[in-house]
Amino acid sequence: MRFRSILRVSGSRAKSPFSSHSSSRFETKRPLSQLCTTNYERPSFGIAFDIDGVILRGRKPIGNSPLALRKLYDESGTLKIPFLFLTNGGGVPESKRALELSELLGVDILPSQVVQGHSPFKKLVKSFENELIVALGKGEPAKVMSEYGFKKVLSMDEYASYFDNIDPLAPYKVAPKDNITSNGSSPRYDVSSERVQAAFVVSDPVDWSRDIQVLCDILRTGGLPGKEIGHQPPLYFAADDLEYQAAFPSERLGMGAFRIALESIFNRIHPNALEYTSFGKPHPFVFKNAENILNQLQPFSRNNHVVHDENVVAHPLTRLYMIGDNPVVDIKGAQQAGHPWFSVLTRTGVFRGKENHEKYPADLVVDTVEDAVDYILDKEIISVHM
Ligand SMILES: [Mg+2]
Repeated sequence: MRFRSILRVSGSRAKSPFSSHSSSRFETKRPLSQLCTTNYERPSFGIAFDIDGVILRGRKPIGNSPLALRKLYDESGTLKIPFLFLTNGGGVPESKRALELSELLGVDILPSQVVQGHSPFKKLVKSFENELIVALGKGEPAKVMSEYGFKKVLSMDEYASYFDNIDPLAPYKVAPKDNITSNGSSPRYDVSSERVQAAFVVSDPVDWSRDIQVLCDILRTGGLPGKEIGHQPPLYFAADDLEYQAAFPSERLGMGAFRIALESIFNRIHPNALEYTSFGKPHPFVFKNAENILNQLQPFSRNNHVVHDENVVAHPLTRLYMIGDNPVVDIKGAQQAGHPWFSVLTRTGVFRGKENHEKYPADLVVDTVEDAVDYILDKEIISVHM
């Protein structure tokens, strides 16, 4: 056997077609072209990949991820197996992230195949479409929100630049935002009288001290920093990951850590506890949303052009695989979502254990994402066609 895998066999899972795992299954393979084109049937399974710690570490592919993904396309580059990326990360529009991933991984990826932590913010456009909102985090948080349809969005960088001395530590910071401040242009909105109606933490905040300070100002004054105490406007987080695997050897503090810091401080300086909503894995609705997208994903696409073929017989997907590195986020989420999700835990990121995770054991533990894809393809091709 090429890799060491651990299957979780308990309760109803024991009846899974995968529970009688044997090494011989990894030796028989039918080409994808036979699986999907001879009978014009769409596969009955789909795959959701976490990114950080599974596909990439920083910007570097890990676990043979480019090769693993190529196995989901045929020789001509046509997508055969419905898959998407389901990440709590973000900071750039899905269209841009799809391009980045296509370049890094060497396969064509559609924007609809990228579900980021902030993707559910689209559903809040109706509530705040024409209201002043603040977006913060690394990357291009305001651009993300503008592309979703929010019409009056300011990045935290721009918003903070409208207030003199709102961040007393700014003069001591190595890289002042000189591209935003003192550029001679007048503010786009009168932030001294127009209240911020909501704040969105789109991606991992960069300047924690400034962001916590200004968020506390916004939240305790009802959206008018420097003014009297007011009703707290809504606060949304794209995710709540305490830690995640980046390029550094050990885990880095994530958006959940920032939330704890903000909440702890806010609750010490304000009479009412902080109210907020967090999105992202492990919430079941994230998996339901991914299931809907996978079911709608056109089975054939080439060079980012969807090919409509009336001869294709599309079935609802009856099995969905979540491949992740974080038991608390990816595995817990897939298990909470229940059928048709099957969880696969890799050892390339947050989780490094020899056996399964104790608190949130995955249905399958493998070393790398390539091992996971090999396993899935072998099982599915056998179960469908043999
Ligand atoms: Mg991860």
